Amino acid sequence: AGPPPVTRYNLNNVTITNDPVANRENVLILTPMARFYQEYWDNLLKLSYPHELITLGFILPKTKEGNAATIELQKQIAKVQKNALEKERFKSIIILRQDFDPPIPSQDESERHKMANQKARRAAMAKARNSLLFTTLGPDTSWVLWLDADIVETPPTLIQDLASHSKPLTVPNCFQKFYNPEKKAMDERPYDFNNWQDSPTAQELASKMGKDDILLEGYADMATYRALMAYMYEAGADIHTEVPLDGVGGTALLVKAEVHRDGAMFPAFPFYHLIETEGFAKMAKRLGWQATGLPNYKVYHYNE
Ligand code: GDP
Ligand code: MN
Repeated sequence: AGPPPVTRYNLNNVTITNDPVANRENVLILTPMARFYQEYWDNLLKLSYPHELITLGFILPKTKEGNAATIELQKQIAKVQKNALEKERFKSIIILRQDFDPPIPSQDESERHKMANQKARRAAMAKARNSLLFTTLGPDTSWVLWLDADIVETPPTLIQDLASHSKPLTVPNCFQKFYNPEKKAMDERPYDFNNWQDSPTAQELASKMGKDDILLEGYADMATYRALMAYMYEAGADIHTEVPLDGVGGTALLVKAEVHRDGAMFPAFPFYHLIETEGFAKMAKRLGWQATGLPNYKVYHYNE
């Protein structure tokens, strides 16, 4: 046997277009997962993007909950990859277990949203996202879809719809369905407040902060007066309406792989007083890539 073969990839042959199905573009779906939700999995299986072009990547914490989620995830994966029809199978699937402990053991919605817990929690999430990204992004990846494990409902055409905008970063509007006791009926409310347009007030706040302090969105104690995409939804309006964004969330977020390849990642440290996904939008922007929000295009977060 001779020397090992060399595999060559011309990155300029890896297209990233507004018609990724026709151009057979590979999509990497990345999910940090603390809990397994069947609704997330069922929704994922319903995505109409050709599964043979999709690689799935997961990262789970080494907690009791993370262990349980890993077992459930593996069970579901085995079903699809071994038993399902050829066309339902994904190209490949990668599961990573985190090599660091999450700083906040409790995962209740109220606990994890406490302001005091934010910096450590978001830094840990940033590290988890970076580990996942840097170990799975391949030379043939065209798109990265960040999809949280508690996103339980999206249109099946999610990838095609977001990619059709052909933007570096594209974010739908993340809502949550809940039972409204006043209306005695199901209702919905905005969930992800990390999709925003910057404001002079937030800039002013940042300018007076210590270098390790971070700005947070959605807390009464820190009124930023940023324009939140969560409140830009207009019923009946065009789902493809675009707005420019300065901060993004990671619940569902489509990124051109070249943005990550350029080095845009999730800062686990205060970057312009921003961290994790919001810091990512800022870093992308510094590299010349602008984020775009779709205020009328909804996806849904689980309701605990
Ligand atoms: P929130 O919806 O903004 O409150 O954030 P979540 O707690 O839902 O976390 C965002 C995503 O990361 C979800 O998919 C979680 O399952 C996942 N997640 C939360 N904590 C951890 C963690 O410590 N490690 C990993 N790998 N994933 C986590
Ligand atoms: Mn969540």
